[in-house]
Amino acid sequence: MSEETIFSKIIRGDIPSDKVYEDDKVLAFNDISPMAKVHVLFIHKTTTKHVNQMVQEHPQQLVDIYQAIAKYTQESGLDKSGFRVVTNMNKDAGQTVFHTHMHVLGGERLGTFGS
Ligand code: AMP
Repeated sequence: MSEETIFSKIIRGDIPSDKVYEDDKVLAFNDISPMAKVHVLFIHKTTTKHVNQMVQEHPQQLVDIYQAIAKYTQESGLDKSGFRVVTNMNKDAGQTVFHTHMHVLGGERLGTFGS
């Protein structure tokens, strides 16, 4: 288990979030500081610190999250125009919340990425 983050508080309902998708394992909510017209964060309700820990210790959670992304993007129609999934891993990537999360970005033509 990893330490408490703001996302654990969101999962417990201790702080509010603008929820757009939920099932028994995964929660998704709008990013508080959006980088695109659509910017949704997908998190697993079981905490891991970063994506490498998730892949190595709980690989099924990655499938749970990507299945939730597929459902959300199909139901919202975002899959038609397209979207990007981004995971920041540790400090050079700019990870600030150490509860594994996938950024889903879309709703407009996205720019290129990298440094
Ligand atoms: P990262 O930099 O990849 O760790 O992403 C963390 C993301 O969480 C950032 O895009 C923040 O804007 C977002 N964020 C932080 N606090 C909240 C919050 N309370 N509700 C929604 N998004 C948040």
